[in-house]
Amino acid sequence: MTPYVPPIADFNFLLYDVFGVDEEWPDRSAAIDKELANSILNECGRVAQDVMAPLSSSADREGAKWDDGKVSAPTGFKQAFDVLTEGGWLGTAGNPEFGGQGMPKALTTAVEEMFWGANTNLWLYAALTSGATYCIDAHASNELKARFLPAMYDGRWTGAMALTESHAGTDLGMMRTRAEHLEGGTYAITGTKIFITSGEHDLAENIVHLVLARIEGAPQGTRGISLFLVPKYLVNDQGELGERNGFASGSIEHKMGIRGSATSVINYEGAKGYLIGEANAGLRCMFTMMNYARVSVGVQGLGLSERAYQMASSYAKERLQGRAPTGPVKEQGAADPIIEHPDVRRMLLTQRALTEGSRAFAVFAAVQLDRAEHPDPGVSGVALRYVELLTPIVKAFISDRAMEASLLAQQCFGGHGYIVESEIEQVVRDVRISQIYEGTNGIQALDLLGRKVLQDGGNTLAELVADLRQAELDRSYATKVSEVLDLWLEATEWLRNSAGSNPSIVGAAAVDYLSLAGYAIYAWLWARMSLLDDGSLGKSNLARFYFDQLLPRSEYHANVIKNGSDSVTLPNSDWF
Ligand SMILES: Cc1cc2nc3c(=O)[nH]c(=O)nc-3n(C[C@H](O)[C@H](O)[C@H](O)COP(=O)(O)OP(=O)(O)OC[C@H]3O[C@@H](n4cnc5c(N)ncnc54)[C@H](O)[C@@H]3O)c2cc1C
Repeated sequence: MTPYVPPIADFNFLLYDVFGVDEEWPDRSAAIDKELANSILNECGRVAQDVMAPLSSSADREGAKWDDGKVSAPTGFKQAFDVLTEGGWLGTAGNPEFGGQGMPKALTTAVEEMFWGANTNLWLYAALTSGATYCIDAHASNELKARFLPAMYDGRWTGAMALTESHAGTDLGMMRTRAEHLEGGTYAITGTKIFITSGEHDLAENIVHLVLARIEGAPQGTRGISLFLVPKYLVNDQGELGERNGFASGSIEHKMGIRGSATSVINYEGAKGYLIGEANAGLRCMFTMMNYARVSVGVQGLGLSERAYQMASSYAKERLQGRAPTGPVKEQGAADPIIEHPDVRRMLLTQRALTEGSRAFAVFAAVQLDRAEHPDPGVSGVALRYVELLTPIVKAFISDRAMEASLLAQQCFGGHGYIVESEIEQVVRDVRISQIYEGTNGIQALDLLGRKVLQDGGNTLAELVADLRQAELDRSYATKVSEVLDLWLEATEWLRNSAGSNPSIVGAAAVDYLSLAGYAIYAWLWARMSLLDDGSLGKSNLARFYFDQLLPRSEYHANVIKNGSDSVTLPNSDWF
């Protein structure tokens, strides 16, 4: 197996040279400096490489197991998970008031990428915990925070997110799980949720579910949904574990990928739950967790596409087939390495330009998340607006490009990539889910175009584009960046004008709109990276490739948008 190599040099370049994050660190409440950040990144890289990556393929082969309600994670996961908890890796971004480390999101995004890339299956048992703690910290009472957050930050207890029901996935307004008032202000939760990642497993002492349910008498639809904290074991005021709560795993799913991650059906049978936030405002609270999780799912795709590229580039240097078009490179050998073929190079460069573009985008979005906590409301307000706008693009564009990059990596292996031993096919299966869960990428596109752009009158987008135009870029690409930003704004204006008279246009154009947005942002990122690299990371080669070979896709998406929705809506549903 190709060893996983943590991309630390690239993180350092992005954090300090491209985004200058250390200049903003003195404003943070928790102390952080370059020296501490470097030691965090290096130690994370070591854990990813030595502890997590070696378990990735065995976990896929073995899978998670279910036996009469008990769920066990694959062999070796418990020991590796203990390494994660002992290292404090579940609480890096957490609130220091309750035992978290308060590290900046720009740094924890790098940490997450390495863990996702090294072993997505294992990190799925931890990743939901960060989102859950974020949500509890933002919306729960101080009493609940004090009772649950410290053990979750140190990884003794993990988190799960329970929204989906068999008949209610995207359309959560149809959910039926109900909550009845109990004495003492708690609730009895009853219903069945499906597809619950890490809802049951044997890696932690307790599992804290955040469950969406409908309080008796609540209005129909999304306005009648509330959020509850429902622990597997009840917890007393001293934080000690008590009796088992009333829910269990009814089964686990057999899946295309992420087979080492346990995805449960959870039956809640009068389980005791604590209301988080206000009654009937549950979806708004849950969005805190979902927004966090959406960025994290984009980063999951990114981590896996890095892993795929590392496998493909190492294979392409070893595999001998045919001769380079310009004449033999290894004259003594029977053939040249396939990396000498322009098409194989095209595939590798596409992977790398997309993956490194995605990394830059993920850090850019994380910088906005950090600024959203800035003490100056002028700074935090703008950043919050940018986070809202960028989140669906981070989730969907990064995961779409990760799928593309992983398929290209598999293609570099030829027929061997279709064979299980190559291990690249696992990456392809594992990365696929990032396009589907946390809201499908189609739904992310609707969120971007409908809610974040059109409902806002395009104001935040205009503000962001104006900000991007202020930055210093590599002169060779500045004009192209300006043109693609114009293209993005023109498409927005065209859609604003059409949407009033055509109710289908947003749905028909949204996915192309999100892709156009993604390619425009990556153009800006590549022009900036090209300017700032001293040559050691090869960013100028990749920038050139991006502008020559990938940016032209933006024109395609803009053209599709302007072709309108008729060809999509004309055939009636019976025709299909
Ligand atoms: C492995 C795995 C793990 C998961 N983990 C969790 C978890 O931990 N917690 C949890 O709560 N859920 C979880 N999910 C559920 C996941 O988030 C949902 O599957 C996903 O959001 C889509 O819902 P659905 O499957 O019901 O699809 P549907 O909502 O039925 O959608 C089917 C298709 O129709 C499209 N569609 C639906 N509505 C619209 C619309 N209004 N406009 C346009 N297109 C539309 C969708 O984009 C999709 O292409 C998980 C799912 C899987 C497979």
